[in-house]
This record gives sequence, C-alpha cells and structure tokens, in this order.
Amino acid sequence: MALDEAGQIADPGVTEIDAIVIGAGPVGLFAVFELGLVDIKTIVIDILGKPGGQCSELYPEKPIYDIPALPTVTGQELTDRLMEQIKPFGAQFVFGERVDELTRGEDGRFHLKTDAGREIKAKVVVIAAGGGSFTPKRPPLEGIEAFEGSSVFYAVRRMEEMRGKDVLVVGGGDSALDWTLNLASVANSLTLLHRRDEFRGAPHSVEKMRALVAEGKVRLLIGQMTKLHGEGGALEAVTVKTADGEERVTATAMLPFFGLTMKLGPVASWGLNLNENLILVDTERFETSEKGIFAIGDINWYPGKLKLILSGFHEAALMAQQAHKYVYPDKKLLFQYTTSSSNLQKKLGVK
Ligand code: FAD
Repeated sequence: MALDEAGQIADPGVTEIDAIVIGAGPVGLFAVFELGLVDIKTIVIDILGKPGGQCSELYPEKPIYDIPALPTVTGQELTDRLMEQIKPFGAQFVFGERVDELTRGEDGRFHLKTDAGREIKAKVVVIAAGGGSFTPKRPPLEGIEAFEGSSVFYAVRRMEEMRGKDVLVVGGGDSALDWTLNLASVANSLTLLHRRDEFRGAPHSVEKMRALVAEGKVRLLIGQMTKLHGEGGALEAVTVKTADGEERVTATAMLPFFGLTMKLGPVASWGLNLNENLILVDTERFETSEKGIFAIGDINWYPGKLKLILSGFHEAALMAQQAHKYVYPDKKLLFQYTTSSSNLQKKLGVK
C-alpha cells in the first residue's frame, strides 16, 4: 500500500468494485480477509484517518484479553496484525471520508457516495460501521459553521492545502501534536494553542513540539479561543484569552482537535430495518432487510448479539459465504480449510 505525503494510504481512484466495506474497524478489516478467501475484491472506507476503529481510536494501548489464541493484545497491535493478515488480498482504502449515501441503481449495483463527493459502485455492501461514524467535536464558538470546510478543518486531507497559511492548531492530544509537527515546515506560521501547558499526546511528540518551539518554528500559546474574525468563510484571526489578557492571533486556517464522538450518522437514513439504532440482520447470512447489503460487528442486532470483536469475526465469515452468491451467481462455493487447501494458500501467498 502506498502512502501519500500525509501518511495516508493513497487514493484508490477506483469507481467499481465487487464489495465495499463501510468501516475499517477490526470487523471491517477481517471482512476483507473472509471476502478475499472467496475471491471478492474490496474497497474499505472509513471516516477516520487510519484503520482500527474503536481499537485504535479509543484504546490503542489497552490490552484486550478475549481474542482467541492471543492471550493479550493491545488495540493497536490487533489492528496492525489484521492489516498484516489482509495484505495478500490487496484491499484498497479510502480514509478520512464518510459514506453518506447508499442507494441501489437501475443497473442493480449499489451506488455509494462519500462526503467528499466520491462515487463507487459495488455488487455487495458490507456495513461494519461499529457504533457509527466518529464525528469531530466542534469548539463552542459563535459562527464557526461559516468557516468550516474553507478555513476551519477537523482533518487534514492534503498537507499542501496548508502551505503558506497562518495555521492555528488547537488541542493537547496526539492529533494536535502530530499536525503541529507535520505542518510546522509547510505553514507560513504555526501556533499551537492548548488550555494548559500539559499534553495528553505521546511523550516523544511533546518533546519534538517543544524543540520546535525552542527553535522558534512553532509558537505555543496557553489559553482559550473566544472569538473568530473573518468574512465569507475566510478566517483572518482568532481572539484568545490567556493568563495575561486577550490576544488577537493571526490565523488563516484553524485545526481544532477536541476529540471525537460516535454518532450513528447517515446509516440511519439508508432505509434498512433498524432495532434501536442498530441494523437488524439474520444470523445465517448477517444480511440486512435489503438483499446484498450486510451488517456485521457492533452495528448489527439479532437476538443474543454480543458486542465483542470475536462475534464480529464469526459474522464476517458467514457473510462472505452469501456475498459470494451475489458476486459469482454461477459459481458454487466449496468449503475449504486454509491448512489443507492449496487453492486458499495460493491466495494467501503462502504456496
Ligand atoms: P468499530 O471498531 O466501531 O469501527 C467502525 C468504523 O466504522 C469506525 O472506524 C467508524 O469511523 C467507521 N464508520 C462508521 N460509519 C461510517 C460511515 N458512514 N462512513 C465511513 N466510516 C464509517 N471488545 C472485545 O471483544 N474485547 C474487549 O476487551 C473490548 N474492550 C473494549 C474497551 C473499550 C474501551 C471499548 C470502547 C470497546 C471495547 N471492546 C472490546 C469493543 C470492541 O472495540 C468493539 O466490539 C469493536 O471495535 C467493534 O468493531 P467494529 O469493526 O464493528 O466497529
């Protein structure tokens, strides 16, 4: 997988595929494996900038103790291992985009559209959207909506867009620190604003940030934003309240990293039968009320459902059996073990 300059997996640029997996959490990633074993090619889309869903976003360093055969594994390590395991299938990834629309076209294919305007068609859709899409928390500033998308960004899609700008990064976690480090050499000026002089992010990032401050490449400001200034969506400055009073900080781009909340989001409007905000599925195929659309992992509901990673893995295996019928209606699927099937081993690149 190629990485672009922002460290993201390069844009697939593909508009048609066998299967789209919505959500790159552990269950979405394992779905790539199960679909790959039955020759179904996938694109995975996630609103986050990286794979792993809750595991890498909410508890990357916490040990998980109930993954079969892994007595202990952290959220990040599980994600890394899944990424390694699915490598042979060459899935393509779209990060930083939310799937907003899902409809069935007259051609019988599913048509999917993201918030970035990307359109992809697929024969089957696998919703592995977990607790819903992670949504950035908006700073409580009057009129901020008018600047969103033009001067205020909750994610950086392309570092080049920040070139020559007076960038104000706000927050004290890993995202704020990472983007401070990445953009310091690209921006015209970079100010990191946090409400106190203590950071939640990785200690080595804090160290690097402080080194840039000492070299005069980054300005560190302790305080809170109170007002935005600018017109027509073009930000000019931000008033910041500090211990010494109020200061007007020049800023033509602002990146607030105030954390994420999980919301069901657009999934609710796709016309699928729901049970209290979860998608109803059967337990034989994990198919929704729409044929060809599956739901696996934390997003689905059936009697006895347990929101565990291992349940999602099982659901992915059964889902792939049915998905094969839609992608290859004329082919019969033979049950095979990876230990003994040379055909499967070839696909896994071990033969
Ligand atoms: P998620 O991990 O939630 O991933 C879903 C992904 O879909 C997200 O990345 C989201 O951004 C994306 N998404 C959603 N909607 C859209 C959209 N419209 N467009 C694009 N992307 C979208 N489970 C265990 O089995 N054992 C444990 O010990 C354990 N410990 C846990 C500890 C904590 C603190 C937490 C919070 C959870 C724990 N869990 C544990 C639960 C486990 O993390 C979940 O069951 C698991 O993450 C579900 O995986 P998933 O792939 O279904 O969904």
